[in-house]
Amino acid sequence: MGISEKVAYLKGLAEGLSLDESTKEGKLLLAILDVLDDMAEEFADIEDEIVDLEDGLDAVSDDLNDVEEFLYETSDDEDEEDEEDDDEYFVTTCPECEEEVIFDESVLEDGEVVCPNCGAKLEFDLSDLANATGTDEEDED
Ligand SMILES: [Zn+2]
Repeated sequence: MGISEKVAYLKGLAEGLSLDESTKEGKLLLAILDVLDDMAEEFADIEDEIVDLEDGLDAVSDDLNDVEEFLYETSDDEDEEDEEDDDEYFVTTCPECEEEVIFDESVLEDGEVVCPNCGAKLEFDLSDLANATGTDEEDED
């Protein structure tokens, strides 16, 4: 039973009692029933409004999903392109001037790296380099 049905039931009971409106008790009970009646109507109105609001929210939510899909599809493509530029590189220390020397894979094919600081040629045994790989600290002094 909803609230309005319960109030209607109470009103029926009150009528069955044939409340005397000239007595204080009768006036009070009838006034209470009136208030309950008003409250039941208000609740029904509020429920209707909530249903409307929910419909409105659903519509907004659907629209937002469309916008999100559109945005993420676009930005995903851009991210992938950025990550493809991420070449592997190596860091070592020049034995002459002790500066850090950064070079990438392509230099390894020549087997030597020229120190950009002092110009010394750094020659490597490729097996030694295994220890220096995987360093991705950025140090661009
Ligand atoms: Zn050097």
